[in-house]
Order: sequence, then C-alpha cells, then structure tokens
Amino acid sequence: MRIIIMGPPGVGKGTEAVVLVKQYHIPHISTGDIFRELYKDRTTVGKIAKEYISRGELVPDDITNEIVRHRLNHQDVKNGFLFDGFPRNTLQADALDELLKSHETEVSAMIALEVDDEVLVQRLLKRGETSGRPDDANESVVRNRIKIYYKQTAILKNYYFDASKYYGVNGVGSVEDITERLKAVINNL
Ligand code: AMP
Repeated sequence: MRIIIMGPPGVGKGTEAVVLVKQYHIPHISTGDIFRELYKDRTTVGKIAKEYISRGELVPDDITNEIVRHRLNHQDVKNGFLFDGFPRNTLQADALDELLKSHETEVSAMIALEVDDEVLVQRLLKRGETSGRPDDANESVVRNRIKIYYKQTAILKNYYFDASKYYGVNGVGSVEDITERLKAVINNL
C-alpha cells in the first residue's frame, strides 16, 4: 500500500502517520524529518534546507525530489510506504509519479486531513512551545506555512481526485478517532 497523508501544517499528520505505519508495517517517509536529520548532521543539503524551513518556505523541488529518489531506492519500501509532507506541489507529485513508474508501481491513495485554519495556528504555536522547531514558534512563519499550503499543496487535491485517488478525512477529534477514520479508508483500498 502506497499512501500519501496530506493536510495543512499542524493538522496532526505526523502523529497519525506514526500510528499507521506501526499498524500496517510500512515505512514512514517524512521529508520534513529527513531535512531536520540532514541539518542536525550538519550536511550541506541540511544547511540549505534549514534556510527555507526557518522562513516557512518550501525547500526547492530539485533538492526535495532528489532526497525522495534516494529514499525510494531503499529495500524497505518494496511493500509500500506512507509519505508525510511529500508531495507538496504538482511538480513534486509529477516527480513522484515518474519515480514510482521507474519502480513499476504507483500511488494507491492520497488521504487528506481537513481542519479549520485558526485551529491550526493555535495548535502550531502551542507545539512550538515544546517542539523546539524554529518554524513552529513564530506566528508569521506559521501563517506563511499555512498560506503556502493553500496556494501550492491544496491543489494536489484535484491532482489525485482526477486520478480517483483522493480521500478526504475529518481531521477534528482525538488521535484515536482520526486513526479510525483513516483506517476505514485504508482498509477499503
Ligand atoms: P513538515 O515537517 O512536513 O511540516 O516540514 C517542515 C518544513 O520542511 C516545511 O515547512 C518545508 O520548509 C520543508 N519541507 C518538508 N517537506 C517538503 C517538501 N515536500 N517540499 C519542500 N519543502 C519541504
């Protein structure tokens, strides 16, 4: 099963992704986590990525697609994966399609968590108090990430809808409730 979980920043994608990958025994591929690892390890790519991340902007597509290409060459993705935070625009979605085609496979579903904006800003600022993530702590950066999401990423709904791969899930509720909604979709694929 090859799933993309999508939703605006702060919606709880990462939390749900962690629960789902345990249940379905597939790797969790978070491009945000990969970038954070890369800058923790002081790599050149990590340092470049951090500049964009701190401003709440997207890391350039060529860099992002390259780390995904690299990740998809690992053996553990043979039985599927859960992408979290990728693709974030149509060029990345095209790149993912191409990459998967070269592995003779394709995305099974894109599942989007849907939540109201103001709820998100408050959740992210709260997360910033404890997460240590520089892009969570500042309100204008948080708002910028949400704006980019609606400008670039939300368009992907049409992209996957046209491919009959789009599933919307209500992202308001307890972690457990949302997990159940997501599983209902996944188990029906
Ligand atoms: P996330 O942990 O998914 O919220 O990602 C944190 C930050 O990493 C984002 O705000 C972007 O700056 C960067 N990032 C993560 N994934 C991508 C992606 N697919 N394309 C571009 N930038 C990304």
